[in-house]
Amino acid sequence: MIYAVYGASGCGRSVAPILENQLESRGETKIVFVDDAASAEVINGLEVKSYERFLREESPKKVVIAIADGKIREKLAVKCVADDLEFFTITADEHVCMRNVIIGAGAIFSPFTTLTSNIQIGRHFHCNIGSYVEHDCVIGDYVTFAPGVKCNGNVHIDDHAYIGSGAVLKQGTPDKPLRIGAGAVVGMGAVVTKDVAAGAVVVGNPARPFEKQAS
Ligand code: UDP
Repeated sequence: MIYAVYGASGCGRSVAPILENQLESRGETKIVFVDDAASAEVINGLEVKSYERFLREESPKKVVIAIADGKIREKLAVKCVADDLEFFTITADEHVCMRNVIIGAGAIFSPFTTLTSNIQIGRHFHCNIGSYVEHDCVIGDYVTFAPGVKCNGNVHIDDHAYIGSGAVLKQGTPDKPLRIGAGAVVGMGAVVTKDVAAGAVVVGNPARPFEKQAS
């Protein structure tokens, strides 16, 4: 089996060692980077292949897309599905997952991430170092958590939202979950106390829509 980490830049290089550790005890496996614009043929000891070269490999193959931009993840996931490639999940040893959690294909759980209970997560979720998702959250497809995101209970996050490093999402209630709309961006360190509209960019404490200052 060949396991490919698609993307050999910052994100891919941060998560490939987790995969190396995860697969250490499995015999016949090989890990490679796949990158369409690789800067080298070997990165951090792993061979780098173009997507086309990877596809030509005869061994069974699986892919995880390790690129923080959810739109790019979606584009590449669609291509991989069209080529009948299967996705796998990267899970750090230090990841904790409690009860009744449903997770879509292709997720990445970096070290010290926690999912508590009764959580639903879509495809290709990135849960970066030290982030957590509390009870009764519903997370869409291609959602990205930078490191240290605190996602409290009863929060619903729609597809392609990006939650910046250290952001805090206030807990909602079963009747009125806190909602982060599709494609919204929550800035680093933001404290989100109210719903965020689809496509909005919010920053600060309490988080408000970001307005560019005139220069
Ligand atoms: N990339 C790719 N195919 C694409 C888009 C991106 O192989 O269609 C690769 C790109 O060459 C780069 C990586 O994905 O090596 C993305 O790197 P970037 O630093 O932009 O993102 P990060 O690793 O921080 O998520």
